[in-house]
Amino acid sequence: MKYIFGPVNSRRFGISLGIDLSPDIKSCNFDCLYCELEKNTPVDFIQNEPDVQQIITELKQFLSKNRNIDVITITANGEPTLYSKLGLLVEEINKIKGDLKTLILSNASTIYKKEIRNVLKNLDIVKLSLDSVDPDVFKKVDRPSSSVDLNKIVEGIKIFRKEYKSLLVIEVLVVQNVNDSEDNIRKIAQVLKEIKPDRIDLGTVDRPPAYRVKPVSNDKLYKLAQYFDGLNVVVVHRKNEGTPTFKLEEKDILKTLSTRPFSEIDIETLFDDDTKTQFEQLLKQGKIKREKVGNLSFYSTV
Ligand code: SF4
Repeated sequence: MKYIFGPVNSRRFGISLGIDLSPDIKSCNFDCLYCELEKNTPVDFIQNEPDVQQIITELKQFLSKNRNIDVITITANGEPTLYSKLGLLVEEINKIKGDLKTLILSNASTIYKKEIRNVLKNLDIVKLSLDSVDPDVFKKVDRPSSSVDLNKIVEGIKIFRKEYKSLLVIEVLVVQNVNDSEDNIRKIAQVLKEIKPDRIDLGTVDRPPAYRVKPVSNDKLYKLAQYFDGLNVVVVHRKNEGTPTFKLEEKDILKTLSTRPFSEIDIETLFDDDTKTQFEQLLKQGKIKREKVGNLSFYSTV
């Protein structure tokens, strides 16, 4: 198989089968400091574009033997919305996907284009990145091609949210001393409170990055998460870094949840066993509620 990879198991999206639209060479209009692929000069197109039918043939082959997956993920060694035949590909996938979900992982650079939004509307989950709403910080962290315009991206996401009724996830990736200031995160949070995505994934550098940049700690991620009060935020923990566990009384749990919903990952990672039991009791008593957003449950006050 050239274009199909996985499946991989991800807490955030479930068991995912990937479609790579640029397996030969990185094709991206960004050159993010934290990219887990190699450094690149940004390009505004997919190099060596694949043929839709080749991808669909591989997908059919895989699905004929295994349907035990949750989601078909369109991605690329780069930016998948640069693929000129994306509309046709999504159409063909939707004909054969049955009850599987579809997901695209995009850097949001093309979301201002109506034709791209019209294609993405036909997917079950859209994940867009937004690392800053400040043009200088954005340029520093994402190093886009000269054709990319941050204002258009932000406006495009706003329009898309109004048009798109399915699951919209915004990913914010934080790099130490680049876009981790409270000011940067507060500005992103302000914009996202207006957009109201279904979920925000807040993470940091985890795999070896293209440039010599550093992650922020899990503690810092939790501090920054507080700016997104009222929104469903998943703090994407760094592997290999312990996070202290906390013990909370009932009133503290209710107070904590009144600031922002907590994901099941937060609860598993942050709290001791007694506190986890308390969460379950509060749920049974109807004092808090649990809501499924995509593959993850969020707990909040009623
Ligand atoms: S948008 Fe994604 S693929 Fe492109 S440079 Fe950034 S992290 Fe890498």
